[in-house]
Amino acid sequence: MPDVSLTATDLARAVQAREITPQALLDAARARAQAARDLNALISLNDRAEAQAAQVQARLDAGETLPLAGVPVTVKDNINVTGTRTTCGSRILANYVSPYDATVVERLHAAGAIILGKANMDEFAMGSSTESSASGPALNPWDRTRVPGGSSGGSAVAVAANITPVALGSDTGGSVRQPAAFTGIYGLKPTYGRVSRYGLVAYASSLDQIGPFARTAADLALLMNVLAGHDPRDATSLDVPPAFQPGTPDDLRGIKVGVIRESLSGNTPGVEAALRATLDALRGAGASVREVSVPNVQHAVAAYYLIAMPEASSNLARYDGMVYGARVPAGDVMESMTRAREEGFGPEVKRRVMLGTYALSSGYYDAYYSKAMRVRRLIAQDFARALAEVDLLVTPTSPFPAFRRGERTQDPLAMYAADVDTVAINLAGLPALSVPAGFEEVDGKRLPVGIQFIAPALKDEVLVRLAGGLEGIGAVKVEAPGH
Ligand code: GLN
Repeated sequence: MPDVSLTATDLARAVQAREITPQALLDAARARAQAARDLNALISLNDRAEAQAAQVQARLDAGETLPLAGVPVTVKDNINVTGTRTTCGSRILANYVSPYDATVVERLHAAGAIILGKANMDEFAMGSSTESSASGPALNPWDRTRVPGGSSGGSAVAVAANITPVALGSDTGGSVRQPAAFTGIYGLKPTYGRVSRYGLVAYASSLDQIGPFARTAADLALLMNVLAGHDPRDATSLDVPPAFQPGTPDDLRGIKVGVIRESLSGNTPGVEAALRATLDALRGAGASVREVSVPNVQHAVAAYYLIAMPEASSNLARYDGMVYGARVPAGDVMESMTRAREEGFGPEVKRRVMLGTYALSSGYYDAYYSKAMRVRRLIAQDFARALAEVDLLVTPTSPFPAFRRGERTQDPLAMYAADVDTVAINLAGLPALSVPAGFEEVDGKRLPVGIQFIAPALKDEVLVRLAGGLEGIGAVKVEAPGH
């Protein structure tokens, strides 16, 4: 059986060279998914994968060259794939079958990839631990008593546990980067607008961005070259053609890196050590490192939640059992809608719809929503200033490694605080990459630690080049968790 722990780059090459068939690769990925099912990474498998493997085979037989020939991919369950359920980790969409493909899925198919299945996630992407999923929590393969991060926890686990070499997640406030950090792989949040959101179920539209998970810089580049690019069906899509390639240590020489001063306190010893080691490695490779200030990031979590919740309250209005969502029969239409939402949504979603509606209501709009929008502008200006002085900014991806299941579920503010290093980047619309930068030993278990690099808008390519450079000098290490 083909080895699904290989990279997408190697698997595509082997399929293109006819050393492996797409069907054999699909079988191997399914077997691996079955063996790792206790991790609860996947919500459903794609029934059409077989037919897609046959199509890829036919295209190869006809002489086509496909960048992702036969590569199995896991897709977060808020991204539409024709004929599969798109549950968004919610009871309200438990039986929603998508009639169409998201643009990113169309692009994956065109490149020869095969969608293995749909990944577990926090309900409607609201959360940082994948514990709010109606399908139950996903587990961290490094320590099954801990969370894999969220909200794209299932996608991260699929890649970390070698079910598929790459996966798609969505990142509204850190949901690709933080689970990548917690599971020891790469997670990229592209510049807002570089990857189409058409077919992504909206959480907070001005912040949402689809992004890839991968185990190597080469795979990140391969995937981004397929995913990025203009889409007329997404009004916020940018017309910037992708030109990704993994870099080499030469790319590190002479770059100016700024450590965000405000991110230096409150980190665990292992996170501090990983940051220090990464900065030392960069210096050793000829980069210069200094501290820079991005003062308004201290308000980022507050501003983020005052913007994300109002947008969510508006976006989720469509789930009423009439337009979308499971219908609950009742005496009249109001009661039916009320019960559909009461029974269909979990507690975190309800909390956000209520707080979001409150923050938008007359009398409170100016005090909350509009003030948060002004803070958002200040944060964007801070980043622009800092990125005029240096090429890249760096912070930990999270102040701590994976926390225990249940540790933060009873205290929403403690859960929101887990996003302290990631949400500001979405407010500013910038690209950022979490790189696997080491481990922290906690209670006898090695837990992965991620370091986040932030680039100026549209310089996503620089992040992937940097990742290749860091791999080249051994500063980034992706390891497989013991199973
Ligand atoms: N944890 C953040 C939230 O709950 C971010 C989630 C995300 O990026 N989708 O909103």
